[in-house]
Amino acid sequence: MQCAICGRAGSDVKENTSSLYKKSILYCLDCLVSGREPYDDLVSYGWEYARFTKSYQQKIILPTLTFYRKTIEQFNEDVAKKRDEVTNESNE
Ligand SMILES: [Zn+2]
Repeated sequence: MQCAICGRAGSDVKENTSSLYKKSILYCLDCLVSGREPYDDLVSYGWEYARFTKSYQQKIILPTLTFYRKTIEQFNEDVAKKRDEVTNESNE
């Protein structure tokens, strides 16, 4: 079993409920404790909900972006791209 975020395998990798979506994914203890989520999930979530509460920003977005070495500007760009992709798909 591999952590869905950092890709590490280990005995501490366990299934847990995502803090973004009601689904189970594999987290290693490090990622779980840090509040990281898979980047793609964060982008999708950002697109769907547009706005994050302050606690989401502190607990999930910042640790995730730090881990993936993304800036908030890059994240916002990726969210905008996702929005374009989804909008284009639904227009076809
Ligand atoms: Zn991990």
